[in-house]
Amino acid sequence: MRRKIALLGGTFNPIHHGHLRLALDLVESVGFEQLRLVPCHLPQHRQQPTVSSDRRAQMVAQAIAGCDVLQLDRCELERGSATYSIDTLTQLRRELGDDASLTMVMGIDAYLGLPRWHRWRELLTQAHLLVVARPGYSFKPDAELAEYDRVHRAEVGVLAEKPAGSVVHLSARLLDISATEVRELTAQGRSTQYLIPDAVRHYISEHGLYSADAHSS
Ligand code: ATP
Repeated sequence: MRRKIALLGGTFNPIHHGHLRLALDLVESVGFEQLRLVPCHLPQHRQQPTVSSDRRAQMVAQAIAGCDVLQLDRCELERGSATYSIDTLTQLRRELGDDASLTMVMGIDAYLGLPRWHRWRELLTQAHLLVVARPGYSFKPDAELAEYDRVHRAEVGVLAEKPAGSVVHLSARLLDISATEVRELTAQGRSTQYLIPDAVRHYISEHGLYSADAHSS
């Protein structure tokens, strides 16, 4: 049987229960052998995070400790240069071989921005895209993305049938949590309990991250 591996890339600034529950739900509903969380080093299509990639990765590691199907993948940090998903997928494809099914998961907010990504049309040569709904966003693509979506869209079964090449939309559990809100609550001195794992909450407080007077660390 073909191996099915997924990855969820993100800034994870910080990782929250929206990311974690989405990852676990997809592992169970789609049957991924493993889902890798890939913190980006220097994102190209958004403002640079105030917290270093190493700290963001450490928070991911703490969040998934004890959950073996979720794995931290530090490949973008190790590359150490600008973060491009096409390079990450190419590297993972080389590692997994041609037969494995590789799926890049993203929320609809990320998918709507896809045409601004570096070499975005090549992503499907290496992987499938799995797009999930996110509270507050509806699927209103521009003409270019609408056409791309129409051409490549397939049902979820394709993830087992082919190694790469399709776009699948799945409805997942909706958890209205964002890292922006977690940072804002922290800066205001308010509680983030139950929005993020306790271990991440403790890491943030131990290192003084996101507080109103915190600077890059
Ligand atoms: P920020 O608020 O800083 O923009 P974020 O909460 O969107 O951060 P990211 O690390 O940028 O988190 O997200 C990584 C990926 O996870 C993206 O594809 C995003 O769409 C998806 N994602 C984040 N939060 C959720 C959520 N609550 N439900 C579904 N998908 C999510």
